[in-house]
This record gives sequence, C-alpha cells and structure tokens, in this order.
Amino acid sequence: MLELSKDKIENYLNADYRDILPLMVEANADKDTTITYSKNVFIPITNICRNECGYCIYRRSPESFDATILMKTSEVMETLFKADKYACREALFTFGEGADEFPEVRHALDKEGFSSVIEYLYFLCSETLDKTNLLPHSNPGILKKKDLKLLKEVNASMGLMLENSSSRLMETIAHSKSPGKDPKLRIKTIEDAGKLKIPFTTGLLIGIGETVAERADSLLQIRKLQNKYGHIQEIIIQNFKPKPGIPLEDQVEPSLVEMIKMVAVTKLLFPDVSVQVPPNLNIKNMQMFLLAGADDWGGVSPISLDYVNPEAPWPELNNLKMFTEELGFKFQERLPVYPKFIKEEYLSESILDQINSIENMD
Ligand code: SF4
Repeated sequence: MLELSKDKIENYLNADYRDILPLMVEANADKDTTITYSKNVFIPITNICRNECGYCIYRRSPESFDATILMKTSEVMETLFKADKYACREALFTFGEGADEFPEVRHALDKEGFSSVIEYLYFLCSETLDKTNLLPHSNPGILKKKDLKLLKEVNASMGLMLENSSSRLMETIAHSKSPGKDPKLRIKTIEDAGKLKIPFTTGLLIGIGETVAERADSLLQIRKLQNKYGHIQEIIIQNFKPKPGIPLEDQVEPSLVEMIKMVAVTKLLFPDVSVQVPPNLNIKNMQMFLLAGADDWGGVSPISLDYVNPEAPWPELNNLKMFTEELGFKFQERLPVYPKFIKEEYLSESILDQINSIENMD
C-alpha cells in the first residue's frame, strides 16, 4: 500500500507558490471525477459531554439552562420521520462523549427505560432501521470493543475523528480538559473498528495548535491503520473556526492555502479513501478543495443544523451541485456506507436488508 515518507509529506505541507499548483494537479490526477454527498439528518441525542475541548460550542453542563440532557425517543422518532419524508438516507447520531457519567443523564435514560447511552443508541438505531428508510451512522466518541461490536449490528458505518495524533495537545488549551481526546484512546477505537470490520470515517481537525510535523504524523497514523485493516472509508479534513467565547477564541484559523495543501497531501496519501471537506465551513472556498483533491462533501442536511457548527448553515443542494458541476465533476448522492463495503464481510444482515430496500425504492 502506498506510503509517503514523513519528510515528503512535510515538504508538501510546507510548499510555497512554486509547488502548490503542481501539488493540486498531482492530487487530482487519478481522482474519480464523481463528487459524492450523503443526504442526512443530525440527531444530537445529548449535548452533555465529559470532555471540555477548547474549540467546542456544542457541549453543555447538565445545569446549563439550554442543556439537552437527553432527547426523548418520541423527539428522535419525530425527527427521523421528517427526514424520511425529505428522502434523507443517513441518520447521523452525534453527541457528547461519556454523557452517562452524569447522574442527570442516567436519570433521563432511566425514564426512557435504558441504563446507558450505548443501550439507548442501539435502540434508536434499531428503530431507525425498523420504522424508516434511513441508515444509522453513529459517532459516540471513544468506545470499548464490545460496544463497537454491538453497534455494528445496527450501523451502516461509524465514525471518530482522530483530530490529531499528538499527545502534546493534551497539555494545551485545546485538549487539557478532554480525557477522551487522548490520541492513544482514539487510535485504539479506530483500530478496534478495523478488527471488527466496521466501515469507518475519521479525520483531522486543522488549526487547533498542532505543528506541520504533527499533521504529517497524524496522516501517517491513519495510513498505518488503513494499511492494516482497510476499513477507513473517508477522511474529513476539517478547519477549526474560532467562535466568540470559546477558550481558543483568539486562535487564528488555518489559511486557505494551509487547508489546500492539507487536502492535496491527504488525497495523495489516500488514493483508496474519500477525502471530505465540510462545505458549510467553507462556503466561499468550497470549490478550491475539489481542485485540491477532495472528492466528497460529506453529510448535507435539508432539515437539520450542523449542531457542532450552528453558525454555519448547509449550502442548498442545488448550489452544491452547481458549484461541483461548474468544475466538470459529476455530483452524486451516496449512502453513509461506501459501495466497496456493501457486503456481508462488513455489514450485518439488517443493514444489508435496509440497503436492499432503499435501492429498490430509489
Ligand atoms: S468537541 Fe466533542 S468531545 Fe469535545 S467537548 Fe465538544 S462535544 Fe465534547
């Protein structure tokens, strides 16, 4: 499997005006000309989280006036039914990590009839499969292998951002209050998902204080996991956005050029994996990332906010299509699991049945 040396990756990431355009051309040379997206609905089951990342505006403490301690089953189902009417195909369950360490969340879970967030998530994913035409994709944070195994039964794919492989960031404002952001724990979860053959989404968060060398190390870490297990379906290259009131409010966001180089190098290192840049965080520059090698827009929702970045609305699908086709690419919807993983080796029978029934409808 392809490897670039760390020196080579760093050279690319440090490229100047003479080398950036050739890098972009190289990253696009063998890329598929189809750019994909997934029509999704975001289900933020809880915004209680045991971590306190320096860039987060999603997390709430249980005592916050606007905390979502736990979405009730009826609220989740109402959202899912609405998404079904809009022909969404991905139910994205993303929420705070380790929320059931808080008694308030445990009490709310108890009222719904569950003893843990994982148990509740499993139930909601099963209901999604039984009562809608959507496929669950869950991002519950770091997980034990037994929980990954359980959730595989009811998820088409799962995700966990590596963000960065640097332990040094655990000593900085970005991650010093976030035990779950320990890269060793995150790598372990991604690796366990590989052992269990779970189609997996991961990615890097760019601009939270990491160095160029740490970006290169992080990419190589994901490459190593992919070489061993082959389960990574997409890599998100997400730019940090400063927001008023967060601990990292004064941090300068990564420049367009930094992001372009990051996307291009990722595509060069991962010709076998989709590279995704969130369009809602890059409304003015999104086309540049297609020119730099990105080939997926990720989840785009016609009905829900990006709760992690609520200030950044999703682009209209029509606009996304227009911007994509203007560059000569084909614009195509995909499921939350990529075609090469749609087989028994990777998916449970209930997920394969759901895919089958979606394909017969569409
Ligand atoms: S970014 Fe995620 S893990 Fe970090 S505090 Fe926010 S919700 Fe928790």
